[in-house]
Formats: sequence, C-alpha cells, structure tokens
Amino acid sequence: MKRSFDLIVIGAGSGGLAAAKKAASYGASVAIIEGDLVGGTCVIRGCVPKKLLVCGSSLSESLLSAPSYGFDFDNLQIKSERLLANVRQEVKRLNELHEAFLSKANVQLFKGWGEFRNSNCIAIKNRKNGETLNELYGERILLAVGGRPKRPSIEGASLGWTSDDMFILKSLPNKIIIVGAGYIACEFACILQGLGVEVTQIVRGERILRGFDLELSSSLTEAMLNKGINIIFGENLSSIKGTPGSLIIKTNTGKELESNGLLFATGREPFLEGLQLEKVGIEIFENKIKVDSENKTNISNIFAIGDVTDRINLTPVAIDEGRKFADRNYGKSDRKVNYDFVPYAVFSQPEIASVGITEEKAIQSVGKDNIKVYRSIFRPLSKSLPKTGSKCILKLIVNKNNNKVLGCHMIGDNASEIIQMASISLMLGAKKSDFDNTMALHPTIAEEFVTMR
Ligand code: NDP
Repeated sequence: MKRSFDLIVIGAGSGGLAAAKKAASYGASVAIIEGDLVGGTCVIRGCVPKKLLVCGSSLSESLLSAPSYGFDFDNLQIKSERLLANVRQEVKRLNELHEAFLSKANVQLFKGWGEFRNSNCIAIKNRKNGETLNELYGERILLAVGGRPKRPSIEGASLGWTSDDMFILKSLPNKIIIVGAGYIACEFACILQGLGVEVTQIVRGERILRGFDLELSSSLTEAMLNKGINIIFGENLSSIKGTPGSLIIKTNTGKELESNGLLFATGREPFLEGLQLEKVGIEIFENKIKVDSENKTNISNIFAIGDVTDRINLTPVAIDEGRKFADRNYGKSDRKVNYDFVPYAVFSQPEIASVGITEEKAIQSVGKDNIKVYRSIFRPLSKSLPKTGSKCILKLIVNKNNNKVLGCHMIGDNASEIIQMASISLMLGAKKSDFDNTMALHPTIAEEFVTMR
C-alpha cells in the first residue's frame, strides 16, 4: 500500500471529502484519514439525518390540517422507533455511497485517527488500544476534522445527551429538556414536539436565536409556544441527578424538573483532541486553528478548512473552502471563497432563513435613518382552510441612500428554499427597484418579496 502522498486529508466530512476528490481530479495522489464514519457531521450526525427527522416530524402538522382538506384518519399514531430506524438506514446507505465515491475518485481511505509525527508525517492510531496502524507521508496536509458538541461543566452533565446521541437513539423519551436557544435547540425542540415528545426548552437569555432577525425569532417563539413547547427564559441548569431515563434537573433559580432525557444544545467547538498539533507548532487561537485567506496555517504545508477554523460553521462553506483549496494548490485557479451573502436557515417548524444583514445590524452599521424596512405578514393560503398555523413574515432591509437590499429575511413554509434563490440577487447587488421590477409568480409566498411597497 502506498505510504507517500501529495496530499493527506485528516477528516472525511463534507469539507475533507470535497477537497480530497477535487485534488485527486487534478492528478494529485491523495490519502484521507477518518476515525469515525465517512461522511462526517453533516451526513452522519447533523444536517442530513436532522432534515429527515424534520420531514417526519412536520408531517404531524400536515396531518392535523388534513381533515379540513377532506381527509379523515382514524387512530393516527406515530411509531417514532420506525422513523429513527429508517433514518439510521439511510445514513448507512449514504456512508457507503461516500466511501464508494472516494474509491471512484482514486482517493485512498485510511480508517483510524490521525496524529502528527512531524509536519509531513501522520501516524494513524487505533484510539481504543493505542496501536499505530499506519504511518503516512504527505507533501501537504489538510486538517478537516470539524467540530463536536460542547457540554457545560455542571454536576451530572454526563447524564445529558448531545446532538450526536440523538441520532443513535432507538426510541424517544416521553419528556425531554433541551438546553440552549441556538440552531440545534430550536430544531430539536420542534422535531421532538412533532413526534409526540413533551418538550421543555431552557434558555439562559431572554430570546431564542441570538443573531437572527428579532421579529422572526419572536414569531418562532410564539409558534413554538402555540405548538405546546414549554420555553423557560432567563434560567440555567445547576445540576442533573438521577439515572438515564429518569432525571431530576435543578435550575439556578431553584426550579426542579423531572425528565426522561436532556439534550445539551449549547454550541460546538473544534475537534482538536489527539492531533498532537503541538508537535509541529500549529498556531491555535481561542481553541481554533488559525488560517490565512488561503486556509494556510502558520506552517507552510499545513492547511485547515471548515469547522476546525470556527468561522462560518456551515457545510456549504466547508465544501467551498475544500474545493478552492484544491483548485489553488493542484489546479490552475486562484479563486477564493466568497463569504459575502452566505444564506442561513434554521429548520425549525416554521423555518427561518436569512441572507444579508438583519434590521438590528443595519441600524448599527448604517444608522436607523438610512434604512427602510419593508415587511409583509400574512397567513399563507395553505393555512386558510385549516385556520391554524403561524403567519409568514417576509422582510427586506434596504439602504435608503443607494436603494440596495442589505438583507432578506423570512419565517414560514419553504423559507430556506426561497432565501437560497434570493441570495443570488443580493450577491449581484440587487436594489429594491430590481425586486419591484421583477414579475410576481402567483399565488406563492415568495411573490411578496417582489410586491412589497
Ligand atoms: P449555537 O451557537 O447556535 O447556540 C448555542 C446556544 O447555547 C445559544 O443559545 C447559547 O446561548 C447557549 N449556550 C451556550 N453555552 C451555554 C451554557 N453553558 N448554558 C446554557 N446555554 C448555553 O449552537 P448549536 O449547538 O445550536 O449549533 C452549533 C453550530 O452548528 C451552529 O452555530 C451552526 O454553525 C451549526 N448548525 C447549523 C445548522 C443549520 O445550518 N441549520 C443546524 C445545526 C447546527 P446564548 O445565545 O445566550 O449565547
């Protein structure tokens, strides 16, 4: 087996896979090292299985609306064990598919955990018994090891789950407490509520989704409360006691809650453990690998992409960084990643999606008098017969001085699909007048973006 490569990629997640395959397509000899399943966070324990759970969970709202469309169901039940098993089966299929893609792309996969011996040599270890499985030499090394969930250091924290654990559960608890107010907390609160779990979300601050448009996050809070999710604001956990399946949770104000499970959705951090970065002196800042605009670390042949650099921790960004790294170093292109107008979505129910800056950020950066906010708030047609469900909000933030659209925000059905397309216009520098000159497509939700006056 070949031991010397043009490129060694550590981590076979979205970014690492993209970089490895692209570099190999330019003729480089490439090895990729993965200690867990090929596919990484996005495919194995993140975006993909999460979205499948969202699809399953959101059916509950559609089914509740079904009688108003003439459908009647007797004895409707959710067998969440079947859903969880089907999702795991699909993840397994995708994992095998990604392994097959690697071999088709002529990238050599090494299973085990990589650690630096020196700046060109990586040992592959079995972390269970410490055995060295292989030693590889690479002209360049790319770190694409991603991140992992953080757990707060409180008494009994090990009794709580992280998002990683949620994807290997065989059945769902009857009652769960979710700690946090970010993406994972809001997405899982909605998923689990839709699947019949009694959900309490504990938020240390006064709002959910800090950084997102306040009007949208307030609307999501209202929608989540209306669905029956119990959200407790301004509190934090102080301890977890009990045994798995039967937990007693205390908060800092002395509240005591009982639950069958607890999910920590309290952020993620770069996964640097075991890499032995200190052996080569790779510069780390606030627990993240420091890179320049070409993803190079302070060591000239070592690069890093994706969540391990902790900048914009999204799959498409890691993939783009990986492909452009390969283009620059093995192809003939010097294109850099365009970090402007990265669209974001929270797959809560209803969805929130955004591109560009929020009203709050626009006020800070150009001043309240220099912006105009256009909004449309309405009940979508799909909800008019059932007469239930939350309203959509669509917002455009416009710079009054040059008419440019600075931000485009939405909560409602298909928000992520709509904002993906809107991000093209913002990237091209669209003005409000360009939105106005665009013909509406009727009857849709998205048409409101071109009919706001
Ligand atoms: P986020 O950074 O989105 O949110 C973390 C949340 O945890 C915040 O509400 C924060 O509160 C709270 N928090 C942090 N520490 C504590 C603590 N000690 N006690 C109580 N609350 C705490 O992290 P997530 O874990 O939700 O997601 C991690 C990352 O994964 C995201 O930032 C995103 O990059 C990515 N992701 C993207 C998704 C998507 O694109 N749809 C989906 C899922 C994840 P506060 O607001 O007060 O700081």
